[in-house]
Amino acid sequence: MARYTGPVCRLCRRESNKLFLKGDRCFTDKCAVERRAYAPGQHGQGRAKISDYGIQLREKQKPRRVYGILERQFRGYYTKAARMKGATGENLLSLLERRLDNVVYRLGFGASRKEARMLVTHGHFLVDGRRVNIPSFVVKKGDVVELRESSRNAPRFQELVAAMDRKTVSAWLDLDKRAFKGVVSALPTREDITMPVNENLIVELYSK
Ligand code: SF4
Repeated sequence: MARYTGPVCRLCRRESNKLFLKGDRCFTDKCAVERRAYAPGQHGQGRAKISDYGIQLREKQKPRRVYGILERQFRGYYTKAARMKGATGENLLSLLERRLDNVVYRLGFGASRKEARMLVTHGHFLVDGRRVNIPSFVVKKGDVVELRESSRNAPRFQELVAAMDRKTVSAWLDLDKRAFKGVVSALPTREDITMPVNENLIVELYSK
């Protein structure tokens, strides 16, 4: 599946929000949102007059950018979420959160979702004992996501594991750092998704 490969800090600046797309750099004073808190481009500092449609569009772009998904695939998630029981907006966020690349990132096996995605694509992870190299794979309750034995001694993984902190792992995941694995102990709820997004506006946009 295709993905956005351009500069990512301008995406945060466009959304006027820190989307944490660059790993460690996002926590330093080099963050572009901190340095230049206005939209990118020639007219970025101009007066912004935003319509209702514009507000809804911006809300939709946030999760799309955070999870690194292009429009067509995002629309597919929305269609799937709309068919599920419960609130469509919450279902949509839950589906996105359950992507394998996000789970790997949430466990700490990647400094950013982008890195986690690359590591998944390179086949470093097993789900329930089977190698899965599809970042969009959606995990379910009870799944065990594990780093392959042959990858465990790689310097990058040693570094990532040393920096892992159980306290920062999402409540719906159980990290076993010593065993290089995590268990999906529950499905993510709205409270588990801390991203500043109003999912109802996304539903309004797609319901038109
Ligand atoms: Fe966004 Fe991180 Fe770049 Fe800051 S450093 S603008 S949070 S990607």
